[in-house]
Amino acid sequence: MKIDLHSHTNHSDGLLPVAELLARAISCNLDVLAITDHDTVSALPQAADWLTENQAPLTLINGVEISTAWHEFEIHIVGLNIKPDCPQFLARLASQQQRRLERAEEMARRLEKAQIPGALEAVLAEVGDGAITRSHFARFLVKTGRADSMNAVFKKYLARGKTGYVPNNWVDLASAVQWIHDAGGQAVLAHPLKYNLNGRYLKRLVTDFAAAGGDAMEIISPQQTPVQRRELWALCQQHQLTASVGSDFHQPTAWNELGKHLYLPDDVIPVWSSWGLSSKRAVSESKAESQAEPESELNRTAAKSAASTISMDTPT
Ligand code: AMP
Ligand code: MN
Ligand code: MN
Ligand code: MN
Repeated sequence: MKIDLHSHTNHSDGLLPVAELLARAISCNLDVLAITDHDTVSALPQAADWLTENQAPLTLINGVEISTAWHEFEIHIVGLNIKPDCPQFLARLASQQQRRLERAEEMARRLEKAQIPGALEAVLAEVGDGAITRSHFARFLVKTGRADSMNAVFKKYLARGKTGYVPNNWVDLASAVQWIHDAGGQAVLAHPLKYNLNGRYLKRLVTDFAAAGGDAMEIISPQQTPVQRRELWALCQQHQLTASVGSDFHQPTAWNELGKHLYLPDDVIPVWSSWGLSSKRAVSESKAESQAEPESELNRTAAKSAASTISMDTPT
């Protein structure tokens, strides 16, 4: 089975709308996809409806990616199999969205002082009801010519210590794990190598995450070396966590694709081992052969999604 447990839609900082992301997952032969937008679950009901309407051979895992505070770092915790309509969880995510809005206002004030006006208006217009992220500011800054790539713009304006960076005020890591458990899900430490932690801090992070009741960690992400994978797996085993895989897909790029190269080694326990997953693809393929319906809405959206080529220059 082909599984990807970390992806974004345009309900946060992904570029694809829900239907295009799902169609793309199907055209990439995925069996299972988790949508894990930043501090929001608003894409999930729409995604479930689309899959039902299209009788799509894809299993959706209801997910979220929560930004948390741990020491002075921003650590991302993915929640999988959360209940997307749990009122307590929705209220908790709303508090994170409020923090995002307040942070965005402060970011815009700081940029304005640095002779870059109009950021908040531009970002809010693009975001609509979705989560406001630094990626939206980055796109605005690229569009208005302040740097020529997302990576450059993050380095120059949005990374810690730069003009547009506002220190975070996220929920603490242990509480986020509790939020996910309260919503019926499993907590996964996302992309552990993306925080620029030295070895000692990385070990502390995994120790604290496990002590907080965390369930799994992403040991397979795109663009890792085999040595990095082995180190993450060793950490995962030491703390009796299960293993997860995720592309962290935000948009089509030359270096990242849904489900690509996300193979777990044979000797690991996957986070999904207790989920009772099975592939819907074989059933759907045999149905499709007997019905032969090439111009379905599903096929049209898949073709559109596969053809879309938005280029960006950096992994996120
Ligand atoms: P936020 O959660 O609002 O702080 O935004 C963080 C998001 O910014 C991440 O989820 C990435 O999608 C994106 N991001 C972080 N660093 C970079 C970078 N160097 N280049 C492009 N995108 C980045
Ligand atoms: Mn993101
Ligand atoms: Mn992340
Ligand atoms: Mn992500």
